[in-house]
Amino acid sequence: MSKFKNAYNLIKRSLFNTGWTCNACGREIFSGYFCDECLKNIVKIGENKCLHCGRQAPYKTEYCDSCIEKNIGFDVARSVYEYTHPLSIVIQNFKYNNARYHAEFFAREMFEVYKAEKLSSDIVTFVPMHQNREQKRGYNQARLLAEELSKLSGVKLEECATKIKETENQANLSMSERVKNLKGTFKVDGKLVKGKSVLLIDDVLTTGSTVDVLSTAFKKAGAVKVSVLTLASVSKIVKQH
Ligand SMILES: [Zn+2]
Ligand SMILES: [Zn+2]
Repeated sequence: MSKFKNAYNLIKRSLFNTGWTCNACGREIFSGYFCDECLKNIVKIGENKCLHCGRQAPYKTEYCDSCIEKNIGFDVARSVYEYTHPLSIVIQNFKYNNARYHAEFFAREMFEVYKAEKLSSDIVTFVPMHQNREQKRGYNQARLLAEELSKLSGVKLEECATKIKETENQANLSMSERVKNLKGTFKVDGKLVKGKSVLLIDDVLTTGSTVDVLSTAFKKAGAVKVSVLTLASVSKIVKQH
């Protein structure tokens, strides 16, 4: 790389506070976090959503199909993005490939939704990982997001729950299998949530069973309200059993 290009990149980097490349496809960019091509396919959830779980819907609706008689543990859930390609790749790198630096950018995006949707709460917490898994991975991406969001919002971060049972990967399980799989999984610190409104952070809302089980446990322990904020949510739920 020429001296000129180096200097140019340095100026670009300091002016636009950007990396050298699109964080999704690696193409060189001049500003922002993603290139224009990727941005076209990164869907931010707007007006058309389920007002309960916050998933992208064809129109604004009070309860989407996945909410009726389900996911009733939390009061409200919102996500920034629809979980689609190429963002899904970025999130997978964030989760599994040590790309923890994404936490800062993602939390800023979540903070915008937090403000717009008035999700202000007494405390912020996150979906815990089992100690063994967190040690192996070196971090819990939901914790990273919650830490950053706590800094941005000034809302106190509390570790309200621990995961006491290792569960098999939820990805290939049906809704009912997931709920069964999660039984006795979390231990909630009651005194941290009693009388509080709680903001629960996770990376991706798929069926919503994990946040549902946790929210129900928080409510049992005396939480007055549980709002869920995730980075992305899956809008098309695979057939549920
Ligand atoms: Zn790109
Ligand atoms: Zn819904």
